[in-house]
Amino acid sequence: MNNKSSLLKSLKFNYQLGKRTWFGTGGNCKLFLEVNSINQLINTIRIAKKFLPILVIGSGSNVIIRDGGFKGIVIKLGGNFRKIEIDKSNSVLSVGAGTKDLEVAKFCVEKNISGLEFLSGIPGTIGGNIKMNAGCYGNQISDNLIDCTIIDEKLNKKIVKKKEIEFHYRKSSFDNGQIIIEARFKIQKNNKSKIKKKISTISDKRKKSQPVSSRTGGSTFTNPNSYPAWKLIDEIDYRGKQLGGAKVSNLHSNFLINYKNASSLDLEMLGEEIKNKVWEKRRINLKWELIRIGEFKKV
Ligand SMILES: Cc1cc2nc3c(=O)[nH]c(=O)nc-3n(C[C@H](O)[C@H](O)[C@H](O)COP(=O)(O)OP(=O)(O)OC[C@H]3O[C@@H](n4cnc5c(N)ncnc54)[C@H](O)[C@@H]3O)c2cc1C
Repeated sequence: MNNKSSLLKSLKFNYQLGKRTWFGTGGNCKLFLEVNSINQLINTIRIAKKFLPILVIGSGSNVIIRDGGFKGIVIKLGGNFRKIEIDKSNSVLSVGAGTKDLEVAKFCVEKNISGLEFLSGIPGTIGGNIKMNAGCYGNQISDNLIDCTIIDEKLNKKIVKKKEIEFHYRKSSFDNGQIIIEARFKIQKNNKSKIKKKISTISDKRKKSQPVSSRTGGSTFTNPNSYPAWKLIDEIDYRGKQLGGAKVSNLHSNFLINYKNASSLDLEMLGEEIKNKVWEKRRINLKWELIRIGEFKKV
């Protein structure tokens, strides 16, 4: 199958985007397709941007797609964007932006690479991780980053060095017109058993403290000035609180879950209710970490 026909085969109209996010809620997008190479990516955007807004999505583990859907084209990075390679000097790890975190973590165990163990617990892709500066238990994706290759707004392929990127807590300076296609990391070597131990400690901690087998989007709000958002939510007594089919997790109160066929509106209204109550009680303005995409459903 040539490049063009494989691309056309992956093209889906009126695709149920919401269903393929971790929450599993929300509406459709006009078009959805998986691109496998830089040429396919650039050619698709060149044509599509004349007609439709464009969104690149990873695993959909940090997003709420609103019930009215996204009236645009959604691109997923597959094929060549899911490569993991070590350079000849054995000091640089290159990872395609569509690669899943768990695949990277498994590769690192196999090759005795340390520093990215925390990815074993994050259900995203490298592109989504960099955009969100994902991290946990004291590590974040920017720590060992050397540079990123991106496709910029003018459709040029560009290497952006770490020092040119602003990384803050759960956000980066990349804007929506910039597509991350690859990231390179410094390799730190360690003993395989130590790497495995770190991963199993992370996994144990997560299972005890997060609803990892529920339909969720991870942390709902960022921690304001390092004060845990979950504590604020507990202070207003919202652990376990339900609104429609949405629920505040009993295990971790900063996680919302799609408990019983929730709509995205249920999730968002529950989140907004939490924000209001926390503001009333503590005069602290919680900020959404979850990225909310698309339109509300018209009634
Ligand atoms: C159970 C669970 C646990 C979680 N635990 C953590 C945690 O411990 N720490 C943490 O930081 N996060 C956590 N998350 C949130 C989430 O996994 C991370 O934010 C992750 O980095 C999102 O990656 P993704 O590929 O799913 O991105 P998506 O959710 O698909 O997208 C997130 C944003 O990134 C953009 N994006 C995606 N790919 C690209 C790309 N290639 N180029 C440019 N922009 C792109 C999207 O447009 C969107 O704006 C958790 C989520 C769940 C469901």
